[in-house]
Amino acid sequence: MANIVAITGRPNVGKSTLFNRLIEERKAIMDNISGVTRDRHYGQAEWCGKSFTVIDTGGYVHGSDDVFEEAIREQVELAIQEASVVLFLVDAQEGLTGLDEEFANVLRKSKKPVYVVANKVDTPNKVDYIGEFYALGLGEVFGISSQNGLGTGDLLDKIIIHF
Ligand code: GDP
Ligand code: MG
Repeated sequence: MANIVAITGRPNVGKSTLFNRLIEERKAIMDNISGVTRDRHYGQAEWCGKSFTVIDTGGYVHGSDDVFEEAIREQVELAIQEASVVLFLVDAQEGLTGLDEEFANVLRKSKKPVYVVANKVDTPNKVDYIGEFYALGLGEVFGISSQNGLGTGDLLDKIIIHF
């Protein structure tokens, strides 16, 4: 099976920022899979000599007025099905939300290896902020900053164990 990492989570947690950090821009193959405006994007990444595909997804939403909501959720489901590893991004600065809890249940049903990634931990002393995300019941929480790269190496070390 192909090595595929899906980046998922609600809107504005930093999924696209992480995607852009992980993919090698020079080699990036950005692929629009469907006609909807906010679908999934693919890029190639490499860590410690292991190559893998990263999928950026639209933000998981539910109960909004957004006409694309259903289409986005479908795209997220397809990305999860395709993935060998799923990253569940949450926002450490904003804290745990109801939508995070709802999405955690979607991921639990997927039976895929899921890593909870608390993004926007921009300085090492902010790592205390990630404790509340253990309540999602999805195991270890990785504090990272997609903006400056803090913690992303430790996360990648764990991801590539699956490849
Ligand atoms: P997405 O909707 O999940 O794809 O989120 P984006 O990648 O578009 O980011 C949403 C906002 O969060 C943008 O304003 C980013 O600049 C900001 N952001 C993303 N990652 C970080 C981070 O590690 N630290 C901080 N402070 N802001 C971030
Ligand atoms: Mg995005």
